[in-house]
Amino acid sequence: MVKILVAGEVQGKYKTLFSKVAALNGGKAGPFDLLLCVGAFTSSDADGDLAPYLPIEESGEPAQAKPPIPTYFFEPGDSALLAPLLQQHDTDVQELAPDLFYLGRGGIRTVGKLTVAFLSETHTPEDLEAARTNANRGGYRGADVLLTSEWPRGFDADLPDAAIAHLKSVGVAAAGVGSAAAADMAVATRPRYHFGGGAGAYYQRAPYRNAMNDGSAAGIAGRCAHVTRFIAFHNAMNDGSAAGIAGRCALVTRFIGLGPCAEGAVDKARRWLHAVSVEPIAFMGREALAEEPAGTTDNPYLAVQGGAGGGLKRAAEGGEGGGGKRGRGEFGGEEEDGGPLLKSAAVPAWVDKVAQDDSKSTSTGTFRWGAKAEGGGGRGGGRGGRGGRPPERSGGSAHSAPPEAVDPTNTVVYVGNVMQRNLDQADLSRKFATVGPLKSVRIADGALFGFVEFGRHDDAARALQVLDGTDLKGNALRLRWGQSRSGAGGAAGGARREAAPAAPVNPTNVTVFVGNLPKGDDLKDIHIRRELVRAGVAEADITDIRVTSKGYAFVQFASHAAAANAIVVAQGADIMGSSARCSWGTAQQSSADRGGGPHEGDQQRECWFCLASPTLEEHLVTNVAEEAYVALPKGGLVPDHVLIVPIAHIQRYSELSDACVKEVEAFKAALKAYYARQKCELFCFERCTGTKGANHMHIQAIPVPEGEAARGARMVLKADGLRFGMSFKEVPAGADLRQALQAKNYLYAEVPGEAPGSIIRLVHETSEALNDRGRPSIPLQFARDIAARLLLMPDRAQWKTCELSKDKETELAERFKEQFAEYSP
Ligand SMILES: [Zn+2]
Repeated sequence: MVKILVAGEVQGKYKTLFSKVAALNGGKAGPFDLLLCVGAFTSSDADGDLAPYLPIEESGEPAQAKPPIPTYFFEPGDSALLAPLLQQHDTDVQELAPDLFYLGRGGIRTVGKLTVAFLSETHTPEDLEAARTNANRGGYRGADVLLTSEWPRGFDADLPDAAIAHLKSVGVAAAGVGSAAAADMAVATRPRYHFGGGAGAYYQRAPYRNAMNDGSAAGIAGRCAHVTRFIAFHNAMNDGSAAGIAGRCALVTRFIGLGPCAEGAVDKARRWLHAVSVEPIAFMGREALAEEPAGTTDNPYLAVQGGAGGGLKRAAEGGEGGGGKRGRGEFGGEEEDGGPLLKSAAVPAWVDKVAQDDSKSTSTGTFRWGAKAEGGGGRGGGRGGRGGRPPERSGGSAHSAPPEAVDPTNTVVYVGNVMQRNLDQADLSRKFATVGPLKSVRIADGALFGFVEFGRHDDAARALQVLDGTDLKGNALRLRWGQSRSGAGGAAGGARREAAPAAPVNPTNVTVFVGNLPKGDDLKDIHIRRELVRAGVAEADITDIRVTSKGYAFVQFASHAAAANAIVVAQGADIMGSSARCSWGTAQQSSADRGGGPHEGDQQRECWFCLASPTLEEHLVTNVAEEAYVALPKGGLVPDHVLIVPIAHIQRYSELSDACVKEVEAFKAALKAYYARQKCELFCFERCTGTKGANHMHIQAIPVPEGEAARGARMVLKADGLRFGMSFKEVPAGADLRQALQAKNYLYAEVPGEAPGSIIRLVHETSEALNDRGRPSIPLQFARDIAARLLLMPDRAQWKTCELSKDKETELAERFKEQFAEYSP
């Protein structure tokens, strides 16, 4: 055992500190081996008090006094006396004077038998990176102690309300404090104890668990690049030993925040000295390490750590604490209200793609928000068989404009990414008038975007330069060229064929016009549906498709935002060899022409999952029972990734018949047994979005390696969920699943539990199909993305990249059928 004392900010109060330490050391609790100091050690005002502890360099005179026990600090504070003495070493602790040691700016050091990690406020991104590299080395089991000058951001995640209330009572607004770098450091170094200073209060968080990698030979040897990212995100312990692979060896971290050093008696909330006996991690047995005290929570920092790599770095570069400039990402706007966990969260690759496509197509003019021809008011409003055909479709060349082409007469700036939906014209006017005189400002109530028209092109151009990415009431504005109002005369080289004035899009419009399609009768709605889904549109968001023989179609969506999203993601989608052009249709378009909604028969003919449907890809179906069947998905993550589907066109689990539930559950159990033979556990999920008719429920079943990788599913699900504003709750064991899944929209997941073979049932419920950012409340790819990461194959998150030829699909289906046969109910 190593007995240590940890002190909060000393700030030059050496006498108070050392007399207290000396008393403790000589008392019943002592003796202690060493003292660790968190936060600023010195104060420029107290250099006189420090002087006796330091040798006089010129004369070589030794120090007159020394600390009662070996004392370590890492945050020098602003002492003029100390500053010239400090050196930066990569690995060494610097002994400034007898028993007075400087650890460095940030890193992992060996102090006696202990592994001590620390991070000062003055650390550099390199310090953090070096610590992470060290922690990723084979043989590193975790730090005994982590010291950070600030509290880790996100420490409050998963805490019960009572704990948050307690924090408030001691003057700490949980969501308002903390450094992302400290959180990253905690994730990277996996400490057993984490001491943080800086928030001015003593606080002991409920312990949280660190998880480890499954440590499979393939993980360590074969896929190094992925393993590193996975470990970083997943806080994995990668000693790779056989015991680590087989046994559970996650360690539990306690976070303790300390107040500053104070004289006299202090109440508990202001405690600044903490004593603890540490059994060095290097000597601990796995069982002891794995022990979990009551009240242990999941790791609160996983979301801070970010997704597919780079999260740590980004956090480090972005600075931390209140003053850090952080909202640089595309999703900067959500950070303000999103809570601390969102601060440096990396956005999954597939979301980034959507965002990029958005900006790209907006700036090249292929994606135009302002094009809705209201009441035929637009130039081309009356053209086209359906009257609502957006006018800009008349010019094919509009889409081939080079990205750089800027209309020199354009004075309109598109203002996007208004994620808070809280801006009005006055807000935009105030902000943009700082650049130059404005002609008009348009933004609808609660809109995600607006337009600002300047008097002069140059001012508009400057606004794009200086205001893009800046904040306005919590929105990280994204600026692009809007549509010029200058009319045909302004169309430089045909780059921009101008349409109706760039009026704000009608926020109730849910109709998308899809043009540039093949003419004639060969085109069916299923072709469009399939390609939209392939492009990333949630199938459940599509409520109706109306095809014409004239080379265009209208697609109705469940919401305006879903339609807007489709315009972005499906732009240029290949539909029967043609590159689709998407824009706003008119709101009433399709219902006016249609004469009645699709009847059930239509729906089933279109459905991918109805066995009777001509569009069913029969070669993927492997097992058909009375009420349900099993099929391979297109572009499965791994060969044994399958779907469990009710034969009837049923939209959600709660609508299944007793007989069907029985069969579905039997398939689940069979898959569980089948996966177990491959040393895998079952990760399955159902995404239900409550839009009309179209959804044919299906449960995705994916094998994930047993051990920590599988058990990590729960943590990752929760942590990732937070980033998307989703919160998962457990369905109590024994509760009827049909009763539990009543919400209009939900994501239900069954993940491996702590005990091998056990399961935990988690559900996220929401009444809204779209979140307040206008995106699906339950992202289409969410669960698959997680499965891909658990499988250490984040590059397969997109099903499209996994798509196989029909021959190969048939082969896989046959193989699965054969191997699953003995398990199939
Ligand atoms: Zn169906």
